[in-house]
Parts: sequence; structure tokens; C-alpha cells
Amino acid sequence: MVGAGTMGNGIAHVFALHGWDTALIDVAPGLLERVLATIRTNFERQVKKGTVSAEQRDAALARIRTSPSLAAVADVELVVEAATEQSETKFKIFRELDRLAPPAAVLASNTSSISVSTIAAQTKRPAQVIGMHFMNPVPVMPLVEVIRGLETADETVVKVVEIVEALHKTPVVVNDSPGFVSNRVLLPMINEAVYCVMEGVATPEAVDTVMKLGMNHPLGPLALADLIGLDVCLAILEVLQRDLGDDKYRPAPLLRKMVAAGRLGRKTGRGFYVYRD
Ligand code: NAD
Repeated sequence: MVGAGTMGNGIAHVFALHGWDTALIDVAPGLLERVLATIRTNFERQVKKGTVSAEQRDAALARIRTSPSLAAVADVELVVEAATEQSETKFKIFRELDRLAPPAAVLASNTSSISVSTIAAQTKRPAQVIGMHFMNPVPVMPLVEVIRGLETADETVVKVVEIVEALHKTPVVVNDSPGFVSNRVLLPMINEAVYCVMEGVATPEAVDTVMKLGMNHPLGPLALADLIGLDVCLAILEVLQRDLGDDKYRPAPLLRKMVAAGRLGRKTGRGFYVYRD
């Protein structure tokens, strides 16, 4: 597991729970100790709820080791990369992984928007490179979007689909394309909700209530945008607009303004809503 942030710690949690020896790798100083504590807390929650036994928790925690170095991939079967969403960061990681991981290992990326085919092209094993797009929060969400790059081999797809099923999650295989399916469908809806607020059609509360009560969405699009992070939403819309070459994905100016002002959603305490904790 490369990258131990929001997604990386959830992905490590799920792999360890289902019997995989997991190396959690991150370069941020001091982060790995904090992340282990977070994973422990998340397991406690599951034990309290009764979805995981105390024995399963202890066995899973014992399967997770941490490392500040990519050299820890020397003996692995699968690498899942969930590092920062920046092309150059991911390209560099994949060039290194190709050098350090065993030749048979599959290299997967949890990217939300970067082309899997371009990531694969950084390596000498593009047939073994694939997207494994987990959803947040990983221990709870059942979907994994499996993204097939242009050069991804059938064997790699079959192997990753089997792994996802063994994690008790549902794989959906899609082809590599900007935003894949999840973000290609979700982000224009969020963007349209922002336009509604910007144009004075309705308040954020009204937009979210319409979508919750009228469309049976568990969370309104603006509350969801706050959860994802408005900066992340903006970045994905920019990828859709640029890579699909269509201005229908043009980010709402209000979204840009909020990101510029540091109103990024839950993580900064303020987005379309205010968060006190
Ligand atoms: P995050 O910022 O919480 O974590 C990223 C981690 O990567 C950080 O801890 C950072 O120190 C680490 N990192 C950066 N460079 C590294 C390197 N060279 N080697 C090892 N570690 C490195 O980000 P996140 O929200 O967990 O997102 C991670 C990936 O998952 C991104 O590609 C993102 O697009 C994708 N994703 C995020 C969500 C979400 O809701 N947050 C959902 C689906 C997919």
C-alpha cells in the first residue's frame, strides 16, 4: 500500500481484515504511527458494532507493517498506490515500483482522475498495471471501480476482479477514460448543484433536500462535495473539461472562488456548510 492518507489507511484496513499481509508505505514524517492508531480506532468501531470480532481485529492489526520506503514492495504480489493525486508524483512512484516490485506483481492505482494508460506507460509492465478505484470510506463502501488501461492484460483484470471479490466488495470493470464512470457521472451533478446556488435558484440546503427527498440520495450533492473536498471536485472537473475537450464540464465560477478562499469543505471546517468539529 503506497500512500497512507484517507484512502490508503482504509484500503490497508480492508486487505488486512481479509487475510493479506500488508505493508503500509508513506513518506510523510510521523504519519505512519498516527495512521496505525486510526486503523485501530476504526477496527474498534467495527468490533463495537459487531461486524468484526476481537480475534479478527487482532489478527488484522498483526498483518500490517509500516515502512517509509518503497523498498518494502520487494516481496509483494500486488501494490495499491493511493498517494497524492498529482500526475508527476504518481509517475515517479510507478517508475520506482516497476524497478523494485517482483516482475510478476500487479501495480494498481487508486487514482480518481489520472489516466491509467499514462500511468502504465511509465513502467515496462503496462499489461500488469490497472486502476482499483476504492470509494471513501473504504471499510464501508461496497464498490471498487476496476479500470482497464489500454494495455492492461485480461489476466490482470481477472486477477484483480477476484481479489476485489475476496475483499467482499463488488468490482465493476470500466475502460480507462477521464473520470471513469463514477466521477464522470457524479461531478457534473455536483457542478450543476453549485451553479444552482451561484445563480440564486436555491440555497445549498434546498438543493440538497430536493436531491435527498426527491431522488432518494442519502446525501445531497453539496454535502457530498464538502465531504470529497471542493479542491478535489475542482481538480476532477478540470480534468474532465481538458481531457474530454468539452465545456459542458466547465467548473462553476463559485466553486473556483470557494477553493481560492480556502473553503474546501469538511477538511477546513467550511464549504457549503459549516463544520464545528
Ligand atoms: P491524502 O492526501 O489523504 O493521502 C495521500 C498520501 O500520499 C499522503 O499521506 C502523502 O504523504 C502520501 N504520499 C505522497 N507522495 C508519496 C510518495 N512518493 N510515496 C509514498 N507516499 C506518498 O489523499 P487521499 O484522499 O487518500 O487520496 C489518495 C488517492 O486516492 C488519490 O489518487 C485520490 O485521487 C484517490 N481517491 C480519493 C478519494 C477520497 O475521497 N479522498 C476517493 C477515491 C480515490
